[in-house]
Amino acid sequence: MKMRAARMHGYKQPLVLEEVEVPKILPTEVLVHVEAAGMCRTDFQLVDGYFTALDLPFPATPGHEIAGSIAAVGAGVPAASGLAKGDQVVVVGGWGCGECDQCRVGNHQICGKGRWPGFGLYGGYGEYVPVPYQWLIRLGSENNLKPEELAPLTDAGLTPYRGIKKLQQAGVLGPNSILAVNGLGGLGMYAVQYAKLLSGGSLVVALARSDEKLAIAKEFGADVIINVKGKTLDQVRKDLIRETGRGEFNAVIDCSGAEESIGLGTGLLATSGAYCSVGLVGNRINIPLFPLVAREQTFYGSFWGNYVDLSEVIELAKKGQIKHQINIVRFEDVNDCLDRLRDSDFVGRAVLTYK
Ligand SMILES: [Zn+2]
Ligand SMILES: [Zn+2]
Repeated sequence: MKMRAARMHGYKQPLVLEEVEVPKILPTEVLVHVEAAGMCRTDFQLVDGYFTALDLPFPATPGHEIAGSIAAVGAGVPAASGLAKGDQVVVVGGWGCGECDQCRVGNHQICGKGRWPGFGLYGGYGEYVPVPYQWLIRLGSENNLKPEELAPLTDAGLTPYRGIKKLQQAGVLGPNSILAVNGLGGLGMYAVQYAKLLSGGSLVVALARSDEKLAIAKEFGADVIINVKGKTLDQVRKDLIRETGRGEFNAVIDCSGAEESIGLGTGLLATSGAYCSVGLVGNRINIPLFPLVAREQTFYGSFWGNYVDLSEVIELAKKGQIKHQINIVRFEDVNDCLDRLRDSDFVGRAVLTYK
């Protein structure tokens, strides 16, 4: 049987749209029919060679945000898993080794030997993906979410969730706290919502360079929006004082990762504030040491999310607590869409479908 796939045959080249064999599954794998695949900044970064350290084998199929249905279940998949043909599922990223210290405490997404769909032969930019049975979450019969809403939740809608949980655990959120969401790309639009859901009443300030994105952030619950385009740190501080009466953030989740974004966020971080980076646009962080030490600030890296984090996100979505901002992309348009992602042209998440 054949399927459509958009594959990389080398770095810095357009994806090749082709008909290829549907993957065979191992006995402990499940074949997932991809109904929607979120398109992430990471995908064009992969194409552009940002992750050359991965030693990617070619051809490679991008696409690590996957929702669909089960097309086949391997003969060795335990009946206790409850997985059956036709079930609606999302794919959990970061398939850990199961043996290391990180895997043992459930943080399989930071396992040193982990694998991902979308960073090898198979990914969501192809119509079928083999997945080890442990890494699926079933939606159940009461599911009322569409595949295109579900797919982005496995990364864009998951990564900021874990990041804000870290800030929550750091004890910097609550009624007298200001939490900034820095950057409103695919991740930031979800971050604003988790900022409201998880921050115990913190004032949520969204920072971005696009009025259009800021308007949606306001709709999604941001208390204050500030357009930072072309502004110095002091100008942003003045805007913040005008809007909130205070000139610093107690917590920041950085969904961009660009050098200027981190400079702004850390420059406005309060004493004993906490900063969490989830965005990966830039390469380096360059922040002054003395304020970090003398003001006892904390910096967190937060990567993707684990099975528990994703289960919580899916549950919130099922209960209607997450709003979706989706742009449907047809399979034929996948290369155009990658170009638009390079230009940060999308408001919300681009999602590939095969209809
Ligand atoms: Zn991603
Ligand atoms: Zn491991």
